[in-house]
Amino acid sequence: MSIQTINPNTNKVLKSFEEMTEKEVEAKIAKAKVTFADWKETSYQQRADLLHKVATLMRIKKSELAKTITLEMGKVIAQAEGEIDLSADILDYYADHGEEFLADKVLDPEYGEAIIRNSPIGVLLGVMPWNFPYYQVARFAAPNIMVGNTILLKHASIVPQCAAAIEELFEEANAPEGLYTNLFISGKRASALVSDKRIKGVSLTGSEEAGASIAMEAGKHLKKVVLELGGNDVFIILEDADMEKTVEWAVVGRINNNGQCCVASKRFIAVEAIADEFIQKFKDKLSKMKVGDPMDPTTELGPLSSEEAAVHLADQVERSVNEGAKVLLGGKRADREGAFMEPTILTDLKPGIAAYHEELFGPVATFYVVKDEQAAIELANDSDFGLGASVFTQDIERGKRIADQIDTGMVFINHPTWTQADLPFGGTKRSGFGRELSALGIQEFVNKKLIRISGLNDPF
Ligand code: NAP
Repeated sequence: MSIQTINPNTNKVLKSFEEMTEKEVEAKIAKAKVTFADWKETSYQQRADLLHKVATLMRIKKSELAKTITLEMGKVIAQAEGEIDLSADILDYYADHGEEFLADKVLDPEYGEAIIRNSPIGVLLGVMPWNFPYYQVARFAAPNIMVGNTILLKHASIVPQCAAAIEELFEEANAPEGLYTNLFISGKRASALVSDKRIKGVSLTGSEEAGASIAMEAGKHLKKVVLELGGNDVFIILEDADMEKTVEWAVVGRINNNGQCCVASKRFIAVEAIADEFIQKFKDKLSKMKVGDPMDPTTELGPLSSEEAAVHLADQVERSVNEGAKVLLGGKRADREGAFMEPTILTDLKPGIAAYHEELFGPVATFYVVKDEQAAIELANDSDFGLGASVFTQDIERGKRIADQIDTGMVFINHPTWTQADLPFGGTKRSGFGRELSALGIQEFVNKKLIRISGLNDPF
């Protein structure tokens, strides 16, 4: 199996890495376990100091780290810099709030006293994707390091330089060896590691296939698992939406990260009254996007993460067209070297057509016209995924009413689904289970231990 940096702007191999041997991985797990015994005894202040140091280093090295992101997976450079800022914010957020989130909870039993104390559980395995190589790691590692757990991290094989750089940031911040460990191994080997008795929990962000593989192992070996999987988020435009702003957000929602966000707006659903106006304006803006080298600060749409990803997306579009979808814009690979896809809009989608059901991970929007609000909600819920959703309306109470009826983990009113340190993130249905970020994310891999103090004469 190959662990390589291939620049998707040119499809040229830039650097290769050796996969770790069984012996090397064994030594790293053993070290993570030994380090856990010490790390769980450290104070919250010590843990917070370390996270702040890593955040500071990230900000100091922002430009260099961002360039590596862009080189390895094609994100446009300004967004790569934004990702480093966001990741540093997450580290700081947990450093500042971790102790408060993990404080003892005092209960009020009928007799005696009782508290719930949050204790670390041990070595955790994280399996992370390439689409936000720093942010995905930050939102898993930072809360768990605050809890007192130690981390083994299997990153996506196409971002090995980012994977190594994150480990180096911890080293440079003087983290004890074994606190945060990068593993250069395949996905299959990561799944097999779940059975190791020293690993107490596992978190995967990625595809349904990888999630199912990890969850199966976790189930077999009775381990806690968190899954953050794919999405097919709707972007609903009602007749009272502010059209200019809505179109601007529609473009951001679909094109950000070259269209490769789990929570990208993927299905655009407009009510009849404003559907023509919306789609004309949306198409106009998408057709004028500057496609090009993601290192060029004027580029608006870069390549997909890999040639394989571009081939897969073009195939999904072709299959959908063969099954009856119509192409309103684009529809093909862009006419240039690299893993590029034209900005694309598909219409005339019905159940049974690939693009109606599948997640399109790239700059391909699907567009639907519905009679009214109720039809928009029904279409939104006709999906196996349940990650995020957006509703555009100037009537906030109406937006909230609709949010109540949409079957997803997150609903955003007048904004595409997005993330920040203090808002919980996660889905329902086939988008996974568990939450990351905010006060919720830090509770996933803790032992919520009950400590009960009784009087010797209390009743049984
Ligand atoms: P992927 O192929 O599932 O890869 C994700 C990670 O899983 C990588 O580290 C990968 O390793 C590993 N992996 C692959 N097969 C595995 C297996 N059988 N067992 C264990 N690990 C395995 O997903 P991707 O293409 O990189 O990412 C895109 C998907 O992630 C999309 O569906 C997207 O929506 C989803 N995503 C979800 C969220 C969320 O928060 N809900 C956030 C971001 C992305 P290799 O690279 O070595 O194959």
